[in-house]
Amino acid sequence: MSMKTIREIADLKNKKVLLRADFDVSINEKGEILETFRIRKQKGTLNYLVNKGAKIILAAHISGDKTFSDLVPQLHIILGREIGFIKSPDQIESYFNNYSTPGLLENIRTFKGEIEDSKEFAGELSKNFDYYINNSFAVSHRRQASVSAVAEILPAYAGFQLEEEIRNLDKVLNASQEGKVIIIGGAKAETKIPTIKNLIRNSEYILTGGVVANDFLKAKGEDVGNSVVDDDFEKILSGLDVNDPRIILPSDFKRKGSKILDIGDETAEKYSSIIKLAKLVIWNGPMGLFEEPDFAVGTNKIAEAITKSAAFKILGGGDTITAVGRIGLLNKFDFVSTGGGAMLSYLAGDKLPGIEILK
Ligand code: ADP
Ligand code: MG
Repeated sequence: MSMKTIREIADLKNKKVLLRADFDVSINEKGEILETFRIRKQKGTLNYLVNKGAKIILAAHISGDKTFSDLVPQLHIILGREIGFIKSPDQIESYFNNYSTPGLLENIRTFKGEIEDSKEFAGELSKNFDYYINNSFAVSHRRQASVSAVAEILPAYAGFQLEEEIRNLDKVLNASQEGKVIIIGGAKAETKIPTIKNLIRNSEYILTGGVVANDFLKAKGEDVGNSVVDDDFEKILSGLDVNDPRIILPSDFKRKGSKILDIGDETAEKYSSIIKLAKLVIWNGPMGLFEEPDFAVGTNKIAEAITKSAAFKILGGGDTITAVGRIGLLNKFDFVSTGGGAMLSYLAGDKLPGIEILK
C-alpha cells in the first residue's frame, strides 16, 4: 500500500480540509437512520482532524436523491459532535468565515457535476480548501468529482477508514493459498465473478451460493428449474473453468416449487467443515433469499460456522451485513468492509480511481 495518508500532513492547525465521508445509510419512512455502522466508521478521522485544529467540511452522498438536512440531528448523536449543514458549495466560504463546528455539505450527488466527474464542479468544490481527504472506501471505485477530480486539484490523502479497508483487503490478496476460503453468494453475479477470477489463483476453496451458484450450475448443464439465473451467465463466466475443483457448488437445496432459494443442510455442513479448517475467510453475498426466514437458514449456518472458526474473518456487502447483523454476529468478524461494490472491485484486482490518485 503506497497511499499517502492523513498522518503525513505535518500541520493541520486552522487548515481547511474537505473530507469525503461515507454517510450512505438506509432510513425508514419516518426518516430514522436504520444502521449506524458506516457513520460510526467516520469518527476516527473526524475526531483526529478536529483535535489537530483543522476546519472541516464533509462531503458525502446518500442514495436516492435524499437530503441530509433532516438527518443532521441524528448525525450529532451518532458522531458525538455538532455538525453544521451547508446547502451548496457556494456557501462554503461564508461557512468558513463564521466557522465553529465541522459542516456537512448537502448530498453531493444532488449537485450536477458530481456523478459525471466534472472538472468545473471539482474546481468549485475545492476552491476554499488546503487539503482533501478520502475517507469513503465505498465510493472509491467511482470516477466522480468528490472522489477523483477533486483529488487532482488539492493535496490528497487517505483517511483512517480508507487505510483500514486497504490494509485488511490486502491481507486477502496477499495471504497464501493454504487455508484461504472465499465465500461468494448473493445476486449481481457480474460484480462477483471477476473477484472469483482474480482470487482463485491463490485460494484453496471458493464456496458458492445464491444466484452466483445458480449461474455455475446452469453453465454445467444442471437443471435449475425456474431459479434466478443471470441472462448472460455464459459471458459472465467466460475465462473461468467451471469445473475447477476449488470451486465448490451446493449439492442440495431448499426450493419453492422448482426455484432454488437456499442451500440445503448437506451443503451447509460441507461448507462448515471447510470453514472450520480455514486460516482466512472472506464472505460476500448471502447463501439464499435470507429476507424470508425459511430461506435464511443456509446463510445463518454459514455465519455461525465462520464465527466458530479460528480463521481471520472478513465480511462485506450491504445485504450480507444486514443478514449477519440480524443474528447478532457482526462483532465476531475481524473486519467488516463498508464497501460492497468497491470491495469486490478491489479484490478483483481493479485499480480504483479514488485510491490510485492518492498514491
Ligand atoms: P450483497 O449486498 O451482500 O453484496 P447481493 O446484493 O449480491 O449481496 O445479493 C443479496 C440478494 O441476493 C438478497 O436480496 C437475496 O435475497 C438474493 N438471493 C440470494 N440467493 C438467492 C436465490 N437463490 N434466488 C434469488 N435471490 C437470491
Ligand atoms: Mg446488495
